[in-house]
Amino acid sequence: MSARIVLEAAKYISKTDLVKGTWGNVSYRGENKVWITPSGVPYDEMTENDIAVVDLDSGEWMAGNFKPSSELPMHLAIYRKCPEIKAVVHFHAVYSSAFSAFTGDVPCYTEDQAQIIGGRIRITEYAYPGTEELAKNVVEALKDRFGAIIANHGAVAIGRSMKEAIAAAEVLEKSCQIAWLAGKNGRELSEDDIVRLRKLYLDSYSKKIAKDR
Ligand code: 13P
Ligand code: ZN
Repeated sequence: MSARIVLEAAKYISKTDLVKGTWGNVSYRGENKVWITPSGVPYDEMTENDIAVVDLDSGEWMAGNFKPSSELPMHLAIYRKCPEIKAVVHFHAVYSSAFSAFTGDVPCYTEDQAQIIGGRIRITEYAYPGTEELAKNVVEALKDRFGAIIANHGAVAIGRSMKEAIAAAEVLEKSCQIAWLAGKNGRELSEDDIVRLRKLYLDSYSKKIAKDR
């Protein structure tokens, strides 16, 4: 079942252009295991048996036809830091990747961003892909957020279910597009409104999606 959830999410992010080629990766956490997409395998060829199974504590690759994603350290670091998080989606979409070339945060212009992302989108420091340094930077940027931008690279979204992580990825990408369109003339939500909207989302609006698969 968990391998199926990862496979379906992987096919979805490819179909909806959150990724191009073989870049990006998706994972799902079980009791003490993680199911993660294989490294460098085209999404249209990916099968359920290609999804790698990894021990959450040791990081050991236990099953699957191909070795786990090269970003396994980032996925494991997120699960170890955030016990409530069940899914991680790493993607290279156009607008979030454009912002990955900037410094500073992406402003919080819309309510859905405030609710599911939790506020401004942080951009990490640069680190080489697949490294513990990148993993550490991402965990820091995700503090009180369901999404972050990875410098000169792409973005990551997390959720208490795969559905929520995918929704966070789509809202993050849309938020970057809006920030691009609004430019410097945008009117940002106030800090108080962002806090209220996030609370509304966590306390009531997300009740169903958080409990989903
Ligand atoms: P993998 O194919 O190893 O998952 O890597 C893709 C990627 O996006 C690296 O950051
Ligand atoms: Zn990547």
